[in-house]
Amino acid sequence: NKQVILKDYVSGFPKESDMNIIESIITLKLPQGSNDVLLKNLYLSCDPFMRNLMNKPQGAPINPLAYTPQSVIAGFGVSKVLESGHPDYKEGDLVWGFCKWEEYSLVPSSQILFKIEHTDVPLSYYTGILGMPGITAYAGFFELGSPKKGETVFVSAASGAVGQLVGQFAKLTGCYVVGSAGSKEKVDLLKNKFGFDGGFNYKEEPDLDAALKRHFPEGIDIYFENVGGKTLDAVLLNMRVHGRIPACGMISQYNLTQPEAVTNLAHIIYKRIRMEGFNSADFFHLNPKLLEFVLPHIRDGKIVYVEDITEGLENGPAALIGLYSGRNVGKQVVVVARE
Ligand code: NDP
Repeated sequence: NKQVILKDYVSGFPKESDMNIIESIITLKLPQGSNDVLLKNLYLSCDPFMRNLMNKPQGAPINPLAYTPQSVIAGFGVSKVLESGHPDYKEGDLVWGFCKWEEYSLVPSSQILFKIEHTDVPLSYYTGILGMPGITAYAGFFELGSPKKGETVFVSAASGAVGQLVGQFAKLTGCYVVGSAGSKEKVDLLKNKFGFDGGFNYKEEPDLDAALKRHFPEGIDIYFENVGGKTLDAVLLNMRVHGRIPACGMISQYNLTQPEAVTNLAHIIYKRIRMEGFNSADFFHLNPKLLEFVLPHIRDGKIVYVEDITEGLENGPAALIGLYSGRNVGKQVVVVARE
């Protein structure tokens, strides 16, 4: 059973060499009377939060998902049930949920696995648009963002797993939406593939405030926050009164030993902005609503989803750390096996 283990806690930017590929023995047969589920892992999701699980724990509370040195790393993934001692699952079922980075997993029946009912769309979508990132974009934009037709929306990390969906949800709602991303190729995708009204490469904008003023002369109603740092600081200057900021992530800060200061926070008060952090785990009950909303749009082509597919578990570490340099174009997926 090929596995990816974390060598030791990580400080600063993660490197491929922080992880190792090892081989272990697994019996592909459940013990008599077991109510566990034996899975063959197919698609693994690379998610920015996995970096935070590599940190050395500092005080309580400790994230129950945090990795420990020499343990197999884990994240969301799509798997096939090989054998089940649990009445809810049977051999051949396809599921998605939290799973270890290994070829085969034995998971306790207490672990939540979502059954995959719709297989007329790519299975890998359950690591993205039909899985955790989809729930994140849906809950963050609609529940926390409270968008209204005609409003202005800014999205950072806009071409990624979550951002590309927020932009498309905003267009379907009748909003004006602009995104920032880290290359010309990604900015082209925003405008030509996802239907954003505009976009800019933040790496080539020496003055983010000026870039935002250019795209939002009347200000921003909703900022979908994915990166934090300098971008958030510039956005705060450009928010409109009663604007909303669903604080989804701050990837620019995850690898810094010294976080950047945000100096314009007082604008939250001046402009009566509602900024609210959230965790997708609190919104998994919206999964059926997400599917009901996006599946018809995927089928009729009104929503598209761009993935960046890496073949082979052994190439997983490079794919994962690529998130922090923007190597991925779209949702980063690692293929362990195709059914
Ligand atoms: P992406 O698919 O967007 O991949 C990460 C992207 O972040 C990179 O491609 C890169 O794009 C951008 N990035 C990396 N480093 C920096 C930096 N220093 N400054 C600015 N941008 C950077 O990831 P996701 O869509 O999966 O996640 C987006 C955000 O949402 C993350 O902050 C993540 O932690 C958060 N998240 C939060 C969840 C929640 O429950 N609250 C759930 C899921 C995600 P580029 O080339 O454009 O720079």
